[in-house]
Amino acid sequence: MTDRSEVVVVGGGAVGASCAYFLARAGRQVLLLERGDLCSGSSYGNARFVPPSRSLPLSVPGIIGKTLRGTLDPNASFRLKPRLDRELAAWLWRFRAACNPEAVQSTTRLTLDLIRRSIELYEELATRDGLEFGFRRNGLLALFQSDLGRAASLAEAETLRGYGVASELLDADAVRRLEPRVTPAVEGGVLYPEDADLDPPRLVRELVAGAEAAGARVQTGTEVLRLRRQGRTITEIETNRGTLTPKRVVLANGAWAGRTAAELGLRLLIQPGKGYGFSLSAGEDGGSVPMVFSEKRTTLTPKAGGGSWVTGKLDLLGFDQSSGGRRVAAIPETVRGYVDVGEVEVLERWFGYRPLTPDGLPIVGVHPAVENLILAVGHGRLGIGLAPVTGQLVTELAAGVARSFDLEPLRPDRFERRRA
Ligand SMILES: Cc1cc2nc3c(=O)[nH]c(=O)nc-3n(C[C@H](O)[C@H](O)[C@H](O)COP(=O)(O)OP(=O)(O)OC[C@H]3O[C@@H](n4cnc5c(N)ncnc54)[C@H](O)[C@@H]3O)c2cc1C
Repeated sequence: MTDRSEVVVVGGGAVGASCAYFLARAGRQVLLLERGDLCSGSSYGNARFVPPSRSLPLSVPGIIGKTLRGTLDPNASFRLKPRLDRELAAWLWRFRAACNPEAVQSTTRLTLDLIRRSIELYEELATRDGLEFGFRRNGLLALFQSDLGRAASLAEAETLRGYGVASELLDADAVRRLEPRVTPAVEGGVLYPEDADLDPPRLVRELVAGAEAAGARVQTGTEVLRLRRQGRTITEIETNRGTLTPKRVVLANGAWAGRTAAELGLRLLIQPGKGYGFSLSAGEDGGSVPMVFSEKRTTLTPKAGGGSWVTGKLDLLGFDQSSGGRRVAAIPETVRGYVDVGEVEVLERWFGYRPLTPDGLPIVGVHPAVENLILAVGHGRLGIGLAPVTGQLVTELAAGVARSFDLEPLRPDRFERRRA
């Protein structure tokens, strides 16, 4: 395999596809490599939100104790399997350091700005560029059915209001006007009108087609086995289909980036945060407002053509391949506690790995030790919400022009051991 592409993008999920799109449209010669099919990673089965309302990081004070207690509760939303793993230990150490009010504040502010920029870009992609990916700005509804759920939902809305995220408290009748199928058990909800949602597999297809129309080439079934460097430059990409000699590499392979970067002697500290998704026949005549079920931390997103996509759980189990057993089997049933959807038929079961950084921010930037490597990884729970802005930032980095954001908090070497 020979190639003269100026930029090789590794990873065909939402982030890699966005990078390829913006780079190709800026006139770069792009080759996108994906080891499986396009959109076969975390981008496939997520909750589909582009959510300013989900800008708060996981690393809030008190979360570690709660998660550890979850190891004993099979139904807990977060789960950690304690194990001897140096990378996990280093990740938890950094995570703990990020669990403080100042860090939460700066992370939330930046995340919110980035998601809002993404929403603008999604609007441009849909209207100016004519891409069709089911982009809707119908808001997000956080439903509750207990005093505890109400208190948690109101506290979250109040915190978010402090960052300028608008919300509206709805009583049960107002909720029912928006989503007539909610059950009598639902006591109310919080509506976040700024939130959007979309169809991620269509998004990836459209971005890739747009990139190809602008001259990019795409190779699926091509796994990057190793990146080789001499000094400060990547000189070769070894794949299962031959070796490439790129001018520049954009690493956008999600939860697997830590392994790829380790081959270059770099430490990214990304842990796979396993989550589960289910396609349900439920809701043929469904509404169009995505929902979060506050007590269960489960989501339901109505699909445009009927049916719904349901997601839940965050498990720190490494690249665990199990189906999740009884712990996740009940997720589709939780829907019926909130929305009267009649018979629930599960059409598809899925799991994927959120690429989680300890501080909740993605890693975007040129690595200081490897000058032709741009990282675009670690988007955690928000890769759909952050994909287009990442594509734009990577394109700016490749051009070496002034950046639209201060990238210091996202810098790629921030988890490396401090040198004396
Ligand atoms: C249950 C769940 C719900 C979620 N809900 C939301 C949500 O509502 N909103 C939101 O914004 N985010 C959400 N997320 C997170 C979001 O899905 C991810 O942040 C996002 O998909 C990451 O995109 P990516 O392109 O970086 O990674 P991926 O989509 O995982 O893509 C990486 C790609 O790289 C490929 N790859 C890996 N290694 C190699 C290699 N060596 N060579 C070639 N190719 C390689 C993989 O096959 C994969 O296709 C959710 C995640 C989960 C699990």
